[in-house]
Amino acid sequence: MSASAVPVRTVISPGRYVQGKGAIARLGEFTAPLGSTPIIVADDVVWGIVEEQVTASFEAAGLAVVRESFGTYATKTEVERLVAAIEAAGADVAVGIGGGSTIDAVKAAGHLAGTRWVSAPTVASTDAPTSALSVIYTEEGAFEEYRFFPHNPDLVLVDTQLVANAPVKFLVAGVGDALATWLEARATRRAHATTMAGGLQTETAVALAKLSWDLIWENALPAIAAVEDDLVTPAVEKLVEANTLLSGLGFESGGLAAAHAIHNGLTAAPQTHGLTHGQKVNIGSLTQLVLEGAPAEEIRDFIVFTTKVGLPNTLTEIGLKTTDLEDLQRVAEASVVEGETIHNMPFPVTAADVVDALRSIEGYSRQVRAEAGLPEPIFYTAH
Ligand SMILES: [Zn+2]
Repeated sequence: MSASAVPVRTVISPGRYVQGKGAIARLGEFTAPLGSTPIIVADDVVWGIVEEQVTASFEAAGLAVVRESFGTYATKTEVERLVAAIEAAGADVAVGIGGGSTIDAVKAAGHLAGTRWVSAPTVASTDAPTSALSVIYTEEGAFEEYRFFPHNPDLVLVDTQLVANAPVKFLVAGVGDALATWLEARATRRAHATTMAGGLQTETAVALAKLSWDLIWENALPAIAAVEDDLVTPAVEKLVEANTLLSGLGFESGGLAAAHAIHNGLTAAPQTHGLTHGQKVNIGSLTQLVLEGAPAEEIRDFIVFTTKVGLPNTLTEIGLKTTDLEDLQRVAEASVVEGETIHNMPFPVTAADVVDALRSIEGYSRQVRAEAGLPEPIFYTAH
């Protein structure tokens, strides 16, 4: 056995995590120890929201304000463009402010340009901000590849007031992404498989994944209600921490399995374009539970809870039908390609298994929702 093949348990994390109402006003203070020449990457909408506070905080910290815009997806081209901007600015720290795609692109560009990097998510829609990896998409928004970096962000800063001010659909999406974390860590544990952190699980990561799950079940519904009115309550703080920090640490060092592989497969179906990462991950989570043959009560609870949260749990809600056999076959094949995390499941999974599990959720979720007096699913049409 070569030295690099010695199995080890490992957990990785960002250098510092900061969260609070109004925290964006301290971005300069926390960025200053990381570099003297920052470059900020934010799209025009996000910059319009944060420019005043970020400028004031950078000036107070003695940092110049240099800002670069951002497109739609973290594509290869967009990453290369940002590398050129970082180099042109002579920056030594890249600060991504915005959604998951902006942050993923900044991590990838900061890595290539050799700078330190900061994630300042303005929404709690994914657990991307804390991780040492980026998901790269095609120009059309389909999953292309995971890129792994030798370290996590030096700083993750979340302003919960910005999260509360953003449309609630982002927070709901974050719940979808974060609910998968425990399900996937649990499957990875059963399989004794390795994680995105490049080793076996630690007890720490498994416990954090479970804590994320517990906090979500306890706080998601009151937190979503508060955010509908732009309010920051203790439930919002707990849910944001679960969605961002705990889910991030939990997925990365706890392992991904079928849910994210099925998400990646779903990006191959144009019908699903325009849906958030977390919405598609939720279909992946439910499909994973079906593949596992999870207890009926667990599946029922998951359908009821995610319906109340506002996440899709039927094909209808992601623009697909049980009769779209060709599309479902393509989705399933993409989800089981070599190297996909579905192979972290504690049993072999084939494309045919995924097609059947995906088709099965339609009827069952409808039945559970009807029994629970919850609304029928509404068909999603991609724009
Ligand atoms: Zn995710």
